[in-house]
Amino acid sequence: MYTTGSRERLAREVVGAVLDGDGPGVAAAASGFNTAVTHRPSVVVAAQSADDVGAAVRFAAENGLQVAVQATGHGAAAPVEGAVLVTTGRMQQVQVDPLGAAARVGAGVRWRSVLDAAVPFGLAPLSGSSSGVGVVGYTLGGGMGHLARRHGFAADHVTAVEVVTADGQTRRVSQRTDPELFWAVRGSQARFGIATALQFDLLPLPEFFGGAVVFGPADVERVLRAFAAWAPTLPEEVTTSVALLRLPMADDVPPPLRGVVSLALRFGFAGPAARGAELIGPMRRVATPLADSVGPMSYAAVDRIHLDPTEPMPAVMRGGLLHSLPSAAVDAVLEVAGPDVEVPLAMVELRLMGGALGRPARVPNAVAGREGAFSVTVVAPASPPLATVAPRVSEGVLAALQPWSPGTGLVNFGGWGTSAWGPDDLARLSRLKAAVDPDDVFGGTFAPATAAAGAR
Ligand SMILES: Cc1cc2nc3c(=O)[nH]c(=O)nc-3n(C[C@H](O)[C@H](O)[C@H](O)COP(=O)(O)OP(=O)(O)OC[C@H]3O[C@@H](n4cnc5c(N)ncnc54)[C@H](O)[C@@H]3O)c2cc1C
Repeated sequence: MYTTGSRERLAREVVGAVLDGDGPGVAAAASGFNTAVTHRPSVVVAAQSADDVGAAVRFAAENGLQVAVQATGHGAAAPVEGAVLVTTGRMQQVQVDPLGAAARVGAGVRWRSVLDAAVPFGLAPLSGSSSGVGVVGYTLGGGMGHLARRHGFAADHVTAVEVVTADGQTRRVSQRTDPELFWAVRGSQARFGIATALQFDLLPLPEFFGGAVVFGPADVERVLRAFAAWAPTLPEEVTTSVALLRLPMADDVPPPLRGVVSLALRFGFAGPAARGAELIGPMRRVATPLADSVGPMSYAAVDRIHLDPTEPMPAVMRGGLLHSLPSAAVDAVLEVAGPDVEVPLAMVELRLMGGALGRPARVPNAVAGREGAFSVTVVAPASPPLATVAPRVSEGVLAALQPWSPGTGLVNFGGWGTSAWGPDDLARLSRLKAAVDPDDVFGGTFAPATAAAGAR
């Protein structure tokens, strides 16, 4: 496992906490948002600083162990077994520079803190549907949020990453200092190192218009078909998605969604309210909604567009991409997950991509998935006894949509599959991985995928 001497040195060097895998407090320290995943690390380092992260990485390398990192556990897909787990929840520094329209945040910061600090200055971060998600994991996995079709992935606006690499050193990596590593870390999450801080641009956002329109089971098919025709006609200032939801009869589920199959149309528009109302008008007329919250809103309140769960829960998430959404693809969705099917799924989401998401970043990066016209994300509840069927059921939805999939995906939606990247980027990532992390301290190979196209 590890030597007593190195364990003692780790305890001396780390200012945060060090917990042994079999000791008290480990289960709580290693738990996160996705309670379906139970980590069993050999050691947890609750890091307080970049130096703590460096000490954890050196300890792992000396003892032939791998290192994993967790901020919030929103992205936990597979259990960490026997590795050193670095948790970053104590690294909460947030600096917003309103004049320079930029932010620098520590590794444990969630989007809520950045929204609260930036929005009062008329600036927006490229955050996503839930402000409880961690900035660093989201951004280094790409990061597709409510301004994404206008401004691209969050990773496209990163200007520097402070990262601890496999040698235990902290580097400030930017296009100027190390272009190849800067390309790779923006899109591959923790495969090249653990980021201790991130610096990125904020975007001016004088006004925002958005919300959700929720339709009942009888209107699901009509609204889904209308969405498939309407969404591709929208300007880049609009982001939109539909989520076919099966939510339980629980107090924390908003009333219109409770215990029924519903379709939530989500809409966000970076522009004046009158134009936003005009753009969403056709969808409001397709059927009579159960609820409609679309209107002028503060960007700080974007959580109300998707109404994602805020409390930890057990779930399996799988994702893929579609190069188009013709009516045969809508038929396929309805066949496997429509209101007439009894299936243990919580959500099948189709998000419109395109616009700036389809263009290379100003400073190119390793973000996967630019070829998607829509992303498809499937979430299944994974509490026993559903845990055993959840992966198969989720993958079944992707398999049904395989004819329209380019075979690649988004790193952030669906875990760690290597099929996220196309062959050229995979080869480039592999070469760099061999050079900077030859002993695979951070895990994650870049071998071509063998899984069914579209499923990761
Ligand atoms: C409710 C919900 C809503 C979501 N909405 C969106 C959305 O709108 N758009 C979108 O793009 N994604 C979205 N996601 C996916 C989310 O971005 C990913 O799951 C992301 O990995 C979460 O990061 P985290 O740090 O919060 O999670 P964690 O589980 O703590 O981390 C996930 C992974 O991120 C990497 N990571 C975390 N910290 C570091 C670090 N310091 N250095 C290097 N790598 C690190 C690691 O690979 C880690 O395994 C959502 C997920 C959920 C559960």
